[in-house]
Amino acid sequence: MTITLNPAPPRIRADLVVLDDRFRKIAGDEYVECLYDGGRWLEGPAYAPAWRCLIFSDIPNDRLLRWDEVSGQVTVFREPSGYVNGNTIDRAGRLISCSQGNRSVIRTEYDGTRTVLASHLDGRRLNSPNDVVVHSDGSIWFTDPPYGITSSYEGHAAEQEIDGCHVYRIAPDGELTVVADDFTRPNGLAFSRDESQLYVVDTPAKHIRRFDVEGEKLSGGEVFAPCTAGMFDGIRLDGAGRIWAATHEGVHCFDPDGTLIGKLLLPDIVSNLTFGGPKKNRLFITATTSVWSWLLTANGA
Ligand code: MG
Repeated sequence: MTITLNPAPPRIRADLVVLDDRFRKIAGDEYVECLYDGGRWLEGPAYAPAWRCLIFSDIPNDRLLRWDEVSGQVTVFREPSGYVNGNTIDRAGRLISCSQGNRSVIRTEYDGTRTVLASHLDGRRLNSPNDVVVHSDGSIWFTDPPYGITSSYEGHAAEQEIDGCHVYRIAPDGELTVVADDFTRPNGLAFSRDESQLYVVDTPAKHIRRFDVEGEKLSGGEVFAPCTAGMFDGIRLDGAGRIWAATHEGVHCFDPDGTLIGKLLLPDIVSNLTFGGPKKNRLFITATTSVWSWLLTANGA
């Protein structure tokens, strides 16, 4: 019997910058692998354990792509996608997506049909939902900057109907509320492991803010860390509470005390990242036209 293995993906040496000894505890492969290159502006990586695949968005090309962990193949998952940006998998294994084109947050059901979870606030259309996370209480939290309506590059150019770019919560019963209304353009967001804190990027302000989560509400919101390489986009936390953030030079890693402890430099602007694989110890990174993976000793939250 002949066993044919998949060809190894192209790789580059992991270009690490250690700024603090605490980053040395995080060991990873010598190489980061390029799983795909051929998108236009990739975003929204979400690892689906049940399907053993990574779903990600190619926003200007109006499609969702799927990298299969078993075969290594990348195929089209949905086209047109409605200019989907951020994705996540909810506690029941369903795909939750931010559609910039339809200005809504949608859920893909088990039978493939789609349910709109949020599209309007008080009768006015949302701007263009950007990134989304789920809470264990069944609520869904997302950000709503205007990147999908300021031009037709990654959505449909249109007037902004809501006065501002807010952070929202969709309650389990579907009720939509504003949880933060003092952002310029909120973008990536992530809960801490115990869900007591929510981190939210304000992209033009070039920083991450940290809130305390009190049931359905947020308090605090102080600046957690500034961006020292362009602007932040997506963020994720690992199980030790470290914050991993997409920047223009690669991935920055912050200790929970706010110290930038290290970097993984990459050739292109990084838009977003997520932990995946069966052990959540594989960091998937979307960077402009490509998707990278780095196996490391830290595990996702
Ligand atoms: Mg984003």
